Amino acid sequence: MPGPTGLTLAHELLRQGVQIRLIDKAPTASQNTKALGVWPRTLELFARTGTGIVEEMLEQGVKTPTFNVWSEGKRLIRLDFAHHLAGPYPFALMIPQAETEALLTRHVLDLDGTIERGIELVSLIQHEDGVEVLLRHADGQEEQTRTDWLIGCDGAHSMVRHLVGVPFVGKTFEQSFVAGNIRMQWDFPLTKPMPSSLVAMRLPSSPCPMRSAIAW
Ligand SMILES: Cc1cc2nc3c(=O)[nH]c(=O)nc-3n(C[C@H](O)[C@H](O)[C@H](O)COP(=O)(O)OP(=O)(O)OC[C@H]3O[C@@H](n4cnc5c(N)ncnc54)[C@H](O)[C@@H]3O)c2cc1C
Repeated sequence: MPGPTGLTLAHELLRQGVQIRLIDKAPTASQNTKALGVWPRTLELFARTGTGIVEEMLEQGVKTPTFNVWSEGKRLIRLDFAHHLAGPYPFALMIPQAETEALLTRHVLDLDGTIERGIELVSLIQHEDGVEVLLRHADGQEEQTRTDWLIGCDGAHSMVRHLVGVPFVGKTFEQSFVAGNIRMQWDFPLTKPMPSSLVAMRLPSSPCPMRSAIAW
């Protein structure tokens, strides 16, 4: 199930020589605006693989050593990673999730992994020595198969989690916002107070000169 979690896990298992089958119900990779960046610890873990993932990410992304949070003309928080974060990557790396997924997909394919799209996990039966699963293909065909291990990397509304009866413990709160990757001609200085309800981050230049994510 290849979102960033499934792709990272698949890459790691393939690197360790473990045979895997990677399926996703979505027919194509998502291009939606989702996560905007990768944090230092994640970069460190990718660097450990020694497969060039982190070098490619650094080349594609925008290093952001400071974050400012403004409200009604006052700066509430300044996060200064460059001076307060020990380690090789003292910055947030702005790179849209779709680009992260594309990069990880290339590395999975490089290790002879394959991604089977248009295949949905519908149900499972847990046995002592493995898992029996029912998969539904995009053309409606059903496939019954068995696997030693089933790993659910199927996101926040995980079907695997529901099927094994694991609750999602936590609280939610009402919040409405809009997010988008947009091209902006903007001479607003980044060190000046912003309107109270705007979050803007610089994203990599390709394919447009400057893209930003805007929220509520
Ligand atoms: C609109 C939006 C904005 C977001 N913005 C941010 C942000 O700004 N910052 C941030 O940190 N995070 C953000 N997120 C959250 C971030 O996108 C997720 O944390 C991240 O995608 C989780 O990755 P994942 O691999 O665990 O799951 P996902 O990316 O959800 O991937 C799960 C995959 O499993 C597949 N799948 C699901 N069910 C099945 C099934 N039954 N059978 C087969 N395949 C299945 C799905 O098609 C999908 O490809 C945002 C999410 C959304 C939706």
